[in-house]
Amino acid sequence: MSPRERLYLYDTTLRDGAQTNGVDFTLSDKLAIAKMLDELGIDYVEGGYPGANPLDSEFFSKSHNLRTTFTAFGMTRRPGRSTSNDPGLAALLQANADAICFVAKSWDYHVRVALETTLEENLASIRDSVRAAKARGREVILDCEHFFDGYKANPEFALACVTAGYQEGARWIVLCDTNGGSLPHEVESIVAEVVKTIPGRHVGIHAHNDTEQAVANSFAAVRAGARQIQGTLNGLGERCGNANLVSIIPTLKLKPEFAERFEIGVSDVQLRKLAPISHALDEMLNRAPNRHASYVGESAFATKAGIHASAIVKDPATYEHVAPESVGNRRKLLVSDQGGKSNVLAELDRIGIKVERDDPRITRLLEEVKQREASGYAYEAADASFELLARRMLGRVPNYFDVEKFDVTVEQRDNALGRRVTVSLAVVKVRVDGESLISAAEGNGPVNALDLALRKDLGKYQSYISGLELTDYRVRILNGGTEAVTRVLIESQDETGERWTTVGVSPNIIDASFQALMDSIVYKLIKSGAPV
Ligand SMILES: [Zn+2]
Repeated sequence: MSPRERLYLYDTTLRDGAQTNGVDFTLSDKLAIAKMLDELGIDYVEGGYPGANPLDSEFFSKSHNLRTTFTAFGMTRRPGRSTSNDPGLAALLQANADAICFVAKSWDYHVRVALETTLEENLASIRDSVRAAKARGREVILDCEHFFDGYKANPEFALACVTAGYQEGARWIVLCDTNGGSLPHEVESIVAEVVKTIPGRHVGIHAHNDTEQAVANSFAAVRAGARQIQGTLNGLGERCGNANLVSIIPTLKLKPEFAERFEIGVSDVQLRKLAPISHALDEMLNRAPNRHASYVGESAFATKAGIHASAIVKDPATYEHVAPESVGNRRKLLVSDQGGKSNVLAELDRIGIKVERDDPRITRLLEEVKQREASGYAYEAADASFELLARRMLGRVPNYFDVEKFDVTVEQRDNALGRRVTVSLAVVKVRVDGESLISAAEGNGPVNALDLALRKDLGKYQSYISGLELTDYRVRILNGGTEAVTRVLIESQDETGERWTTVGVSPNIIDASFQALMDSIVYKLIKSGAPV
């Protein structure tokens, strides 16, 4: 077997990803993300634009100690200036980075209209900038902006830009689909033309996701000869995002077409960190992870129907394209009214509850699930509530504490500054170990106040729930009309990073929320091994 070719991964989460609507990285976010990317085995981490904004300048001034090739991004020298008389270029050349990635125009229309200069001056700017960075001992990457649109309009000029950078010693010429409108067959045929001019082992692809094909475009470029892929974690990026490395990496590692031909910097052990890293980034951005994300989403290996589930228990390969553990995810058999006994048994097995296959309590549990789902509960979305229900029916949930009563008030009034405010206050009376404890808390809404009051003082159990945090809260009104009931799903997380979801259903939103909050606390107490 011939040795596999090396394919390089280049992450731009901290630069292009930072353009995402609603994303605003802090310095400590940037440091943490760079560390995660390094741990994942990414070859190049682009840190941002040193000199262009204070945050990025500070980020580059820190010492990084990363194995990755830490890369600074910026523009080639401005038209009509020399390299020694361009402050932006000077800041880039001085940055504490292993490599410099220049962005340059490669579409004649943009050179004339946006840059207002001549095609020859654009080529000179590329040559001068690459030469200056090489003279500083940096590895050089040239991002050719709007390359595919430029190639369609004027292939000679687009290729002249590529050649100018390559001849001056840029290690990588990266072809950018900046507007994200190119299709895979176009990318494949244009890259095939480019690699006739410069070797594919020096060609990279930078795809945007405006037609939902950034990942496909990246693979099309690789098939045509490109050997570097640029992308971001979770596909962050402006508009519809960049190529998603979280989808690209496992495909390269696990699909024979790529795995047999290429080697990447991510080992099998590092691949298992993929799902946790993807979720950690969402956590940092205060976003709920996309359940349906390929490979790493909570539903990526979730199987619903009964016949599928019984087959999957016999052999997972029947309904799974790869092993969920390989990317740090897990198989999930959905317990729902469509599911059969096999789902329930497999789920109990995963939780670690041992029961005989023909135990009559299994049938009762299944009946209970069906009945509750008919009244609005959704156990396939609430794994922790299912676990509690199962443990209760099997007689294994201790009675840690009782809530004797709670009271929630919502008041709208003028505050001391004469501004209209709405204030929520909750008072909760719990009985722990024969002792009555009363807690009160104000919150930014009634559910928040109730949550805070409930978790404020649980006596001897307090230390077991101190790391508990509510991370997502979703409300849905079911049925409509006068019979409407409210379903609340609460996602919680603890100090170990484990997440779980609980459910509550009631005509009253506070009551539904209370049920879900209680399930979450009891689940955490069981998980922490709290004594009865
Ligand atoms: Zn981009």
